[in-house]
Amino acid sequence: KSGFVAVVGRPNVGKSTLINHIIKQKVSIVSDKAQTTRNRILCIHTDEECQIVFLDTPGIHKPHHKLGEFMDEAAYQSLQDIDAVLFLISGNEKKGPGDLFVLDKLKGTKVPVFLVINKTDLMSREEILHKITEYNALFDFAQIIPISALTGDNVDAVVDEL
Ligand code: GDP
Ligand code: MG
Repeated sequence: KSGFVAVVGRPNVGKSTLINHIIKQKVSIVSDKAQTTRNRILCIHTDEECQIVFLDTPGIHKPHHKLGEFMDEAAYQSLQDIDAVLFLISGNEKKGPGDLFVLDKLKGTKVPVFLVINKTDLMSREEILHKITEYNALFDFAQIIPISALTGDNVDAVVDEL
């Protein structure tokens, strides 16, 4: 099995840290060359069971200059040919306009959206449970996965669930 996964989330939630962690696992390769017109390949995870191509999707993030319908079109375009979305948030911070902006762009997608609650090393059990409840009410996620990309805690579950 193989598939394309878009990694989305506002700046500083830990997207690069998560990808770096996945790259360190057994058979993952980084590609700085391979590009599609809409998405950049961050890494390709390969094991006995599956191949997962992780993609950056610039069109889905808050633009510095383009606004409105332009943006919706860009978000729509960057989610074409994608099999699943990994939506990362910083669990130790309150949800802000940057998180909601990305989530809003995901509202129209037909593919499963996985919520990754990152930075659990900075959270209590209660805070993690509270985040899960809060986001569960906002969107119909395929799965909610708490992780620490920094320590690697539960990162395996991300690949497993995908
Ligand atoms: P990106 O902008 O989404 O790619 O975020 P980065 O991967 O660059 O991470 C932003 C900052 O958050 C960096 O200082 C990371 O070291 C830190 N960070 C990322 N993941 C974690 C985590 O799980 N726990 C903690 N404590 N810090 C993290
Ligand atoms: Mg980054």
